[in-house]
Amino acid sequence: MNLASKHVLVVDDNAANAELLLDLLDDHGFTNVHGISDPRQVLAHCVKHKPDLLLLDIRMPFLDGYAIIDQLQQHFLHQMPPTIVLTAQIDDETRHRVLNMGVRDFITKPFLHEEVLQRIRNTLSLEHRYQVRDQQAETLERMVAKRTQQLNHQSRTDPITQLPNRRGLMQTLREASIGDSGTGLLFIALDHLDEAVRLHGYSIADQLVRHISQTLYSQLDSGSVLGLWGGSELLAITQCTDQPTLERLAAQLLGSFEQDQALGDLLIPLNARIGISWTTEFFNIERLVHMAALALPQKNSPQRIQSYNATLEAQQRRRLNLQQAIRGATQRGEMSLVFQPKISLTTQEIIGAEALLRWHHPELGHISPGDFIPLAEASGDILDIGDWVLEETMRHIVAWRRMGMLNDRFHVAVNVAARQLTRKDFAQKLLSRLATYGIPERFFALEVTESGLLSDMQNARLQLAQLAKMNVAVAIDDFGTGHSSLAYIQTLPFSTLKIDRAFVMDIDKSPVDRQLANMITQLAHAVGCDVVAEGIETASQAAYLHSIGCEAAQGYYYARPLPADDFVAWCNNRASTPPPLTAMELV
Ligand code: C2E
Ligand code: MG
Ligand code: MG
Repeated sequence: MNLASKHVLVVDDNAANAELLLDLLDDHGFTNVHGISDPRQVLAHCVKHKPDLLLLDIRMPFLDGYAIIDQLQQHFLHQMPPTIVLTAQIDDETRHRVLNMGVRDFITKPFLHEEVLQRIRNTLSLEHRYQVRDQQAETLERMVAKRTQQLNHQSRTDPITQLPNRRGLMQTLREASIGDSGTGLLFIALDHLDEAVRLHGYSIADQLVRHISQTLYSQLDSGSVLGLWGGSELLAITQCTDQPTLERLAAQLLGSFEQDQALGDLLIPLNARIGISWTTEFFNIERLVHMAALALPQKNSPQRIQSYNATLEAQQRRRLNLQQAIRGATQRGEMSLVFQPKISLTTQEIIGAEALLRWHHPELGHISPGDFIPLAEASGDILDIGDWVLEETMRHIVAWRRMGMLNDRFHVAVNVAARQLTRKDFAQKLLSRLATYGIPERFFALEVTESGLLSDMQNARLQLAQLAKMNVAVAIDDFGTGHSSLAYIQTLPFSTLKIDRAFVMDIDKSPVDRQLANMITQLAHAVGCDVVAEGIETASQAAYLHSIGCEAAQGYYYARPLPADDFVAWCNNRASTPPPLTAMELV
């Protein structure tokens, strides 16, 4: 460290004193020393050439040393040049006063050369060390700030697409929420991404997301932000708050999915759904995103774009309420079964019944199975409910057999949800339950919808095959409404096909429906299945179905689903009164 080149300023109104110090420093190799005898020039000098050390007399005319320190402090604040006071007074008061003002040291007059030099060197070298330390601290601070900025950016950026991630999006939304321009959101869910992962691996799937996000981003205006909300969900934040414009933008974005995505030699199909929300005022971020997510059309819905509206929310709330209310409903005795007879179209005899679930909630009232079954499937509650339905149905079968009501051709069918068929021990448990109740298998049947079979085909096939082997009839329900494929009824051990009500409803008016019903019946027969038609409401519907060879029918025309006692009464009544005109006679 070279102290000799440091800038030392000596201020003393007594020129002889100043000269003495300047000579002393000069003699000891200091090359940058300066003297001022008029205290009024000190500030100007310091502003121009800030000294590394100020040797300052206290007693001076015009401005004393205290006043100069004041001036310098006001000007330099914390960066005030280090100061040694030159004084003849060393009384306590002076000492306290100057120390309080931040002065580093004192030199007392008359000067002792060695001591003066040592004090000057001490202060300069201490100051030098402070400076070095300050510089290091500053460099460190800058480095930390830069790294923090990098880390911040990283934590807000998705590493694959380099787009903002959820944190980044939240920040953009936070900023937008306090601005006064409105905000519109497009919540974009990518479908089939998991299939791409399965087929091509993660690296291709990553490229795919990168590719599609670039394609989407290029269609947004410069004020919009696109980011990744989840693994297969993107969020576009725009300043547009006009519903039709947002919907047009959404439709334009969906256009990017019309063709398969080209990645090198690969062509990968990808699809998307978009939920839209917007607000023109200050907003709650989570709520706005939730609104867009709520509006997102369901995966299996034909609709691909939907804008938020209050009804959606009410529906959602109702769904949540129901989902909560379902839990424990069987134990609380809120569930019951009703039975709808199935009638042979040839003999008009009762050949069986379908057990249908009813739920009466003390506050929500009667809730249709069409509403609560899908919810119970989604939450898993259907497993317990399904067990309860099986038990309850078996209890009734035992009671009716005791009453001698069931002949050998009579069976009771129970609807089974997809979720139940994913159980590996479904068939085996069902069979042992029948054994416990002493019910021969032929009295029992199952109805399964096609969509239920799709989810875990392998296991469903296994379970159904076990049941078929033991003579439990299995029907495919609602045929024609799902992903209808006759291949199903060939590869799975079905004994019965139930034509959905949708095909029966308009049979009288629609030649196409008549033809369809006819074809389905012929094909079902070709693979050895009986056909039951659902939702028969008129005699002429029954007549037509009989004419095309459909074996059995079920519907309001014969009976609505009835509580167990009413069902028994209905069966007894029908047995004691002659059957109505046969369908053939009605034609
Ligand atoms: P599904 O198995 O196809 O049942 C037939 C539905 O059509 C029943 O509705 C029945 O009341 C109704 N129906 C019968 N005849 C007629 C008619 O002539 N006209 C009209 N318009 N409708 C008729 P429900 O009881 O509301 O059941 C709806 C669906 O809920 C059932 O369709 C079934 O998929 C499901 N479900 C009902 N009970 C259960 C159950 O215990 N477990 C499972 N997993 N699902 C059930
Ligand atoms: Mg059914
Ligand atoms: Mg059905």
